[in-house]
Amino acid sequence: MLLGSSEAEVKKRETALKIIKSKIKKEGRSTIYDLSGLAGGFPLKKDDIDLLETYVGPALYKEKLERLGIEHLGGEKILPFNRTTAGILATILALVKPGDEVVHYLPRMPSHPATPRSVRLVGASYKEFDNIEKFRVTNNTSLVMITGSTMDHDIIRQKDFLKVVEISKSKNIPIFVDDASGARLRTVIYNQPKAIDMGADMVITSTYKLMNGPRGGIMAGKEDLIYMIKSKAYEFGLEAQPPIIAGMARALEEFNPKNMLEAFHKKNDIYKALKSTLANIKETPTGIMLSANDLMHELNRKGIKTSLSHTDIAFIFSMLLLRNYNIITITAVGMPGCSPTIRIDLASKDAERVDNDYIVSAMSEAFLKLSEVVNDKKTCENLLFGT
Ligand SMILES: *Cc1c(COP(=O)(O)O)cnc(C)c1O
Repeated sequence: MLLGSSEAEVKKRETALKIIKSKIKKEGRSTIYDLSGLAGGFPLKKDDIDLLETYVGPALYKEKLERLGIEHLGGEKILPFNRTTAGILATILALVKPGDEVVHYLPRMPSHPATPRSVRLVGASYKEFDNIEKFRVTNNTSLVMITGSTMDHDIIRQKDFLKVVEISKSKNIPIFVDDASGARLRTVIYNQPKAIDMGADMVITSTYKLMNGPRGGIMAGKEDLIYMIKSKAYEFGLEAQPPIIAGMARALEEFNPKNMLEAFHKKNDIYKALKSTLANIKETPTGIMLSANDLMHELNRKGIKTSLSHTDIAFIFSMLLLRNYNIITITAVGMPGCSPTIRIDLASKDAERVDNDYIVSAMSEAFLKLSEVVNDKKTCENLLFGT
């Protein structure tokens, strides 16, 4: 195994960042295609810059964010966070006591680590379900969570969502929806209602996912609950600061579902073109993906055996996409523990600058290259860590 530790993954990430920097220095930002779907952005206007002060900033942008946030998510009140992770932590700190139980329904397990980590921190117990028939709450359950769309973009079924709401409401348990990407994927691509309109008490979304905003989380919900969560957020410094608030407000102002809908159609063509060479390729709502397992199956299909692990292979593939085709995926630049699934998100801003053929040849040629190098340890190490 080449990438068995967090340190090795940090080094791989740093190598990727160095490659990106040197490519941009040589040929400019437009040489790079960030197709991670998480590129984010900071669409401030010139006049915004002078207003990013501690007190002046929130005074000015709060109202705008409140209006645009409610338009995007529904609810009575808006609460902006540094990250969705911070919003999940603040909510669990505010609503869950030691010994309570948190129950989480997802379209597919596991959850983003933010939830189980926060539950552990308060000393509560935790249970996840991805089968609606098995979902249950107990007298100890003080919070029900729902994930609208997983990290791999599995989408909850509307009727399962409504069932969880019905069960939780019958016991008066508050319902909190982690709609990090779901707030847009569910509504724009699958025409589902907003989480709040299906009965959730609170919802949070990430403003850099399928949206051109800074990394941050916006929560919406019932006024009394939002005030409880807000005071916890202030106590622990989890609330968004003026630059992020201004960036989120501008990103919401700019948000246009058209890119996502175009991506939904574009991915069909790319998927069909790749299916003949990479039989294990999968569709996501706005792109394509190949998991570490899928990549291993593809190698095995070609009769290639390797002593490398599944994740090693995925990381090497992501570095080939970056080095040879200037394509950024989460797998190349993510933090340790990030998903080893190669995901190409066509709703990314940079996707407008690449045509389908480029992506199809990058994916198939990178796979060819991968199959040539998997048994050459030196070359693999060089791809992951060499500059
Ligand atoms: C991305 C994501 C998060 C965390 O968002 P951050 O803003 O990176 O903290 C939480 N839950 C889900 C389902 C996600 O996809």
